[in-house]
Amino acid sequence: MKVNGSHLKGLDYSVVQQCMHCGLCLPTCPTYEATKLERHSPRGRIALMRAIADGQLEATKTFGEEMYYCLGCLACMTACPAGVDYAELFEHARAEVETSGVLRSTKRNIIRSLAIHWLFGSVNRLQVVGRVLRLYQQLGFQTMVRSSGLLRLLPKRLRELEAITPEIQAEFSSERIPAVTAPTGRKRYRVAMLTGCAQDLIFSDVNQDTVEVLARNGCEVITPAEQRCCGSLHAHNGEWKSAQALARKQIDQFPPDQFDAIISNAGGCGSHLKHFHKLLSDDPAYQQRAKLWDHKVKDIHEWLDEIRIEPPRTVSTEQVVVTYHESCHLAHGQKITAEPRRLLRSIPGLQLVELPESTWCCGSAGIYNLIQPEMANELLVRKLNHIRTTRATVVATGNPGCLLQLINGAKKEGLSMRVVHPVTLLAEAYRKNQTHNA
Ligand code: SF4
Ligand code: SF4
Repeated sequence: MKVNGSHLKGLDYSVVQQCMHCGLCLPTCPTYEATKLERHSPRGRIALMRAIADGQLEATKTFGEEMYYCLGCLACMTACPAGVDYAELFEHARAEVETSGVLRSTKRNIIRSLAIHWLFGSVNRLQVVGRVLRLYQQLGFQTMVRSSGLLRLLPKRLRELEAITPEIQAEFSSERIPAVTAPTGRKRYRVAMLTGCAQDLIFSDVNQDTVEVLARNGCEVITPAEQRCCGSLHAHNGEWKSAQALARKQIDQFPPDQFDAIISNAGGCGSHLKHFHKLLSDDPAYQQRAKLWDHKVKDIHEWLDEIRIEPPRTVSTEQVVVTYHESCHLAHGQKITAEPRRLLRSIPGLQLVELPESTWCCGSAGIYNLIQPEMANELLVRKLNHIRTTRATVVATGNPGCLLQLINGAKKEGLSMRVVHPVTLLAEAYRKNQTHNA
């Protein structure tokens, strides 16, 4: 809700005044750690937000830049003994930046209109762009352009962006997953599976693995072909109204009273999907359903742990060393840390080695690596250095942004590690069991 056109003034004051300035969050904040400047710390940012909420400060360009220098990684929330809801403050602060227009510029407006509204506002448009990109990659044009030296003519920033263009999958989720997947054996649950937007284009194989593992453990899985973006990108980038509209569409498409669980396999989306009652707090028509929705949304690791899956059986003596990088929004946003580890440990032949600073952001942070490439790259290098010390050949992580960031990082540094979603490792283990039995 806005008061006098301000998101922060309209925010529940009990959230605004929670911070007691103790500073315990400071060492966990990547931007403070990099600069040692108070304004780049959670405490400094919260003070700015409160000053605006109290009417002592107007939003300025500097405030806007500060809010976009923050990763939104939520590590400060885990560290905070006072229970400050930084996630809510952060989303309202970014909405304040957008409604006040302090960062407005023609270039920024065009990019945001194209990316956030046009592209991510419709999965159909996203898929059309995905298909064009897929053709460009499959027909060898990308390889040709890359080896021709033409890219050297582009500005440095565009060259960097081209280098991290994701590989589009040969088939999208709707082409590889039926609308209804029957459980193997006795039906225990009926669940909906959210295939996502970017996830669908880049990691539809992970969606297929997720459905397979769910079905293997007694779930009937409902996966409609036409799905929409959950709105997490919009909420994290200050587009409050669009995020609300997309949340309503999710609830309409997946009525929460019809499912035992609504499954997300993307840490960043799951963190957003679990707070629809806050996002729609000013909409009485959706309030009750939004509360039930929040209760039914489960991250895939959380759900599989809760329903106690049948562990895959050992079929070979091969040992693989795996390490686990924690998606910020899975670890800090959803507090899911033990469940992915338990799932990984249930896989025969997998040796889980702990990653130093496993919860430190890898620099992906939604679209942070696109808007703050330097800081994102520093974080990526730090992450890869830690991964090297584990000597793992496989890195597991439960969020598409992290998967992509680490895949690109490994490629850039010539590391031969495999980066994979934990559910894929589980699906592969079940498939090995099937092959062995055949
Ligand atoms: S969200 Fe992350 S980057 Fe932002 S203030 Fe909190 S710890 Fe720092
Ligand atoms: S956000 Fe929490 S940990 Fe950080 S200064 Fe405020 S009360 Fe302390």
